[in-house]
Amino acid sequence: MCQNHKNPSHFEGTEIEKSVDLTPVNYQSYIQGMKFFDPHIHMTSRTTDDYEALADAGIVAIIEPAFWLGQPRTGLASFKDYFSSLVGWERFRSSQFGIKHYCTIGLNSREANNEALAEEVMEILPLYLQKEGVVGVGEIGFDDQTALEEKYYRAQIELAKEFELPVQVHTPHRDKKKGTERSMAIALEHGIDPKMVIIDHNNEETVKSVLDQGFYAAFTIYPFTKMGNERMVEIVKQYGSERIMVNSAADWGISDPMAIPKTAALMKIHGISEQDIQKVTYQNALDAFAQSGQIKEADFIDGLQIDQSQKFNGNTVLRGGQSPRIDKSSIFIR
Ligand SMILES: [Zn+2]
Repeated sequence: MCQNHKNPSHFEGTEIEKSVDLTPVNYQSYIQGMKFFDPHIHMTSRTTDDYEALADAGIVAIIEPAFWLGQPRTGLASFKDYFSSLVGWERFRSSQFGIKHYCTIGLNSREANNEALAEEVMEILPLYLQKEGVVGVGEIGFDDQTALEEKYYRAQIELAKEFELPVQVHTPHRDKKKGTERSMAIALEHGIDPKMVIIDHNNEETVKSVLDQGFYAAFTIYPFTKMGNERMVEIVKQYGSERIMVNSAADWGISDPMAIPKTAALMKIHGISEQDIQKVTYQNALDAFAQSGQIKEADFIDGLQIDQSQKFNGNTVLRGGQSPRIDKSSIFIR
């Protein structure tokens, strides 16, 4: 009876499942020695465990875009403190795990809808855009595609031109195709070079138009809501590696800061060349944001010097009496 079954059993997987062990602990063996650059990750929302895992997986540099915090801010001082932490404490915290931290500064699309506060934020943006390590205006763009979102998107494109910085564009979840086209049309209308614009959160529907018009196309590997990394493999197979970059956009939601190393491993398993993997997980992000004049690869390519007893305004990442990083496989917590 059994030999006559026409359908394969549930236990017969695809070719990959048969030939390769894809258990989570194993993917790291595919990316030994590779280096990664995550151009979109919100470390303010993440833990020291994440920083350690990122460093262990070969992530040498990251960009943290200014974004919304899950609930609206009620005053300008909250924006000031947030921007200051992106160029201050968070950058320091990252350095203590050996990862070079950059950021983009901007008024996010959601909070652009509070016009009174948005006006105040616009006034302080120039102060922060001039700071060391600020590699772009971002993440800005459309959420609900309202008139106020458009107003502040346009105003911030002008700021980016004035400060000669790249723009990191958040595209909406709802009505994505239309929102992405509109974001690009407005950027072009303002006369900014599309090579200075990174269109983020792309998918199969938007990628062709973004690349055809000369923009950078970023892809967020984010469970459930954005892209899965198997789909990402197919996109690189179809479109190649030119001007394409991958990011995690890990934040306070259910997200995966290891999205880049995992995607790189999956690409390798699927036979994508190491050169293409290097471009979409490192080089293209570096090239795009280095147009700010704020990134020196030599600062991080061979790793940062780590001394976890260093201080930032009198604070270290070590809480009272802790020792610097120790063996995490040990059962003892001391
Ligand atoms: Zn984001």
